[in-house]
Parts: sequence; structure tokens; C-alpha cells
Amino acid sequence: MLQRTLAIIKPDGVSRNLIGTVVKRVEDEGIKIVAMKMIHMTKEQAMGFYKVHEGKPFFDSVTNFMSSGPCVVMVLEGEEAVTRYRKLMGATNFKEAEEGTIRRDFATDIEKNVVHGSDSEENAAFEIGYFFSALERVG
Ligand code: GDP
Repeated sequence: MLQRTLAIIKPDGVSRNLIGTVVKRVEDEGIKIVAMKMIHMTKEQAMGFYKVHEGKPFFDSVTNFMSSGPCVVMVLEGEEAVTRYRKLMGATNFKEAEEGTIRRDFATDIEKNVVHGSDSEENAAFEIGYFFSALERVG
């Protein structure tokens, strides 16, 4: 099934010059980038994005981190793009991520794990709408 998903190169990925590396892995997988921009979220915007995690012990920390510097946000499109991109990223905890995944190769702790990807089509629709207007989504 052709799907769209929302991908983020988090502030640690941007500051460590990993934008090109992540983009290359996405393109080499045969997934298309149909929208892309750099943003610097406010704390409130990061809280809105991670609303599902409100109340969890790491909510304050992860929203501080996500608003600590610029991110690259992208809309990806491809057959089964949601699960294929999640597979490219690897597990949330990089120590449990498979060899060759972005997080296994580049994450430095459970929070600073370089990338985000929607975990379902339903969440992808919310997350894409959170960052991109219809005019910004091409392809
Ligand atoms: P994801 O879908 O793999 O990104 O994982 P989750 O949706 O469970 O968590 C969202 C993000 O919160 C993760 O990517 C991490 O950046 C951060 N996070 C998750 N679990 C923890 C934790 O136990 N501690 C901290 N500090 N951050 C966490």
C-alpha cells in the first residue's frame, strides 16, 4: 500500500551534520521525499507534537530536547513507507536497534536518537498536518 509518513532529523542529527546521511539512507531505500524543511520548534510546539507522551517521565526532557535547535522535517512516500522507514531508523533504544539502522549507527542515548518516524498511518496523518500545509506537499 502506498503510504506517507512524517520523518524528523532531530536537533542532535542536524547539529552533528547527519542530514545528508539520513536523506541518503531514505533515498537508497527507494522512498521518495515529497516535502522537506528546516524548523526550530518552540517548547510549546514540541509539546503539541509529542502530546501522546504527556504525563510520561521523559515528556519534559524530550520536549526540551526537540526545541533545543533546528530539526529537518520531511514527508516520505512509498510502498509501506511507515514500516519501512521505522525499520531504517531502528528501535527507540539504540542499544536494542538492529545493525545497520540509523539509530544503531548514530544515536548517543535513548533520547538523542537522531530521527523520528510516525508509528502508524493514523499518527502520520496527524504529524504531517502538524508541520505541513497542503501547498507544501508535492509529488
Ligand atoms: P519512537 O517512536 O521510537 O521515537 O519512540 P517513542 O514514541 O516511544 O518516544 C518518543 C521519543 O521520546 C524517543 O524517540 C526519544 O527521543 C524519547 N524517549 C523515549 N523513551 C525515553 C526515555 O525513557 N527517556 C528519555 N529521556 N527519552 C525517551
